[in-house]
Amino acid sequence: MSIPKGYAGNIAVIDLTNNEAQVIPTEEFFTEYDIDPRLWIGGDGFITKILWKDIPKEIDPLSPENEIIIATGPWTATAAPQAGRAMLGCISPETGGFSSGSFGWYFPATMKYAGFDVIIVRGKAEKPVYICIDNQEITIRDASHIWGKETGETVKAIREDVGERYEGEVRVISISVAGENLVKYAVACSDATSCPGRSGGGTVMGSKNLKAIAVRGTGEIQIDDPMGLLESSYNAVNKFVEEEPTLTLWKEHGCTTSLSVTANWPMTGDALVENRNAADFPHLNNAGCLNCFAPCYHWLQIKDGVYAGTRQLGGHMTFITVGLRNIGIQEPDVWIYFERLIQELGVDPASFTMAYSYAVDLFVNGILTKEDTDGIELKRGDHEQIWDVSRRTAMREGKLGNLLADGVAEMAKKLGPEAEAIMPQTVKDKPSIQRDAKLQALIWSFGALTSARGGDWLRLHNVWELAFLPENRDTYPEYTGMTNLELYERCLELLDMPDETKKKIFGDPPKVDRDWVRGLEGKALFAKWSEDFVSLFNTLVTCMFGAATQFMMVGFGPSTYAEILNKITGWDVSYDELMQVGERVLNLQRAYNNQIKGWDVKDDRFAGKLAYEEGEVGIYRGKIVPWDAILKEYYALRGWSPEGIPTKKKLAELSIDAILDVTK
Ligand code: SF4
Repeated sequence: MSIPKGYAGNIAVIDLTNNEAQVIPTEEFFTEYDIDPRLWIGGDGFITKILWKDIPKEIDPLSPENEIIIATGPWTATAAPQAGRAMLGCISPETGGFSSGSFGWYFPATMKYAGFDVIIVRGKAEKPVYICIDNQEITIRDASHIWGKETGETVKAIREDVGERYEGEVRVISISVAGENLVKYAVACSDATSCPGRSGGGTVMGSKNLKAIAVRGTGEIQIDDPMGLLESSYNAVNKFVEEEPTLTLWKEHGCTTSLSVTANWPMTGDALVENRNAADFPHLNNAGCLNCFAPCYHWLQIKDGVYAGTRQLGGHMTFITVGLRNIGIQEPDVWIYFERLIQELGVDPASFTMAYSYAVDLFVNGILTKEDTDGIELKRGDHEQIWDVSRRTAMREGKLGNLLADGVAEMAKKLGPEAEAIMPQTVKDKPSIQRDAKLQALIWSFGALTSARGGDWLRLHNVWELAFLPENRDTYPEYTGMTNLELYERCLELLDMPDETKKKIFGDPPKVDRDWVRGLEGKALFAKWSEDFVSLFNTLVTCMFGAATQFMMVGFGPSTYAEILNKITGWDVSYDELMQVGERVLNLQRAYNNQIKGWDVKDDRFAGKLAYEEGEVGIYRGKIVPWDAILKEYYALRGWSPEGIPTKKKLAELSIDAILDVTK
């Protein structure tokens, strides 16, 4: 099988147990893993196929049998918009099932310029090491001198070690102390800036004694129609800029844009927060991954107060959301400091703050006492305590540090039924982003039930529901001159979705308003469409912030992806074919988790009682969310059995039946 244009041409396979590295032509890799690139494209498609073949049964995620897989796609490192992304995959230390996370900055593109589409790391080194990829030369080097360093210092030390000739020549993905100490939700971080969060990849790297991977690449990527690619990319970006009503706001504020939305969401059931003016962050300028036309990273600098002088490249909504809702951080300067600290320590902000928030609830309810917390009176909003608890957790220090480092699910198991009853939103042992599923938008929370990587909010997007939560005021009039209702009416027309699907989801004529948000009509189909779409851009690989499920949903849809991908590869893929790629990858992940973990309908449930009780606030105030009814409709739409397993017919339709033996 020859490889299409857009691929780098090689796969790096590194065995840490035997201290060996191999360079395999991508063509051979396709044959070995039975990959037709047009069916699986890259990113999550490749990761799923690799895990399916290499790890066919349940393993201890911290054993040498686990793998770290970094997979780019044909989109990566080209002139396409937002071409700086890749996926990092492994078996999750939190769930024991499939896991992957998207990351960017410049490691993914540099890896392709070095000639690699995929990096697979197996085994376990005897002592701390890092991998150096210098174009086609791969060496495994001693990392004893950097073990114990946080992310920023690690990147600096490795760049010096490998003789970086100019700033940014060498790109580094590394772990920090949390990964070394096997905190269950440790993350790896690319150039101390962009982390494949939620994947648990930092923990798996730590278990392999792998501190980092450094890469220098000076090659180029062959493109089928270079001028066509430039033209299509230029047109796509221009269209986006013209049509996206909130882009100015995004460019000005990056991810902190969401503060005005976030501040209006219920905060872990406690109270509404009235601090919209806090959107005035101390920005210097913005910066982004390769070819990003609307970068979400912002240079932030704290000018006054206790944290004066702190500079941070970030301002990401996850930190704002979890900081606000889970641990009570309300001040912009404290958010900035919190984001820097968490990236330096290398922990997943959602899993960590959910564990912390849960510990506070357990403490308030007397289930945890000062005996269990090393004398600390746990509470939200105490900055000094947050810094202290963050470090204890990353270092697994004392009883409290160890408790939180094992995460929400282990905490509940250890502390018994009383603790289990008040567990925050957790599915398949992985917490999502906030305590109670009912407080969030319906379908966004529903996505946590079905996500292949466990309780999660990033594999099904629905920003539209959020805009109509009753607690929410009009978010954007100040910037766009339109109310939410006016904005969404206009954007529904622009959404890249077939008319028939639109009518089935949003009614005939299609309409998004409060009734749609509160009702169940079309929601299961919306969930399926959105999940397939997210799965698609995680195979290309490109960024979720340019995709049609973010902003006001007028970003790049499958039509734009098809046009640009065809210019890169020389294919003639269509909208439907690409959406089916997303569906195919998602179905194999589902079948894989069923095979290695036995997950089915019984596991598509929130832990604890909270999600199944009447809501205290929000649109489900006084009501019980019909999760099971939506699941039933969703399984039927997916062509899965009532047990939630892909049927033989569905697998045949997706051309994956031949490789599966889990057909029912
Ligand atoms: S929006 Fe942010 S994460 Fe996405 S490509 Fe741009 S800079 Fe990178």
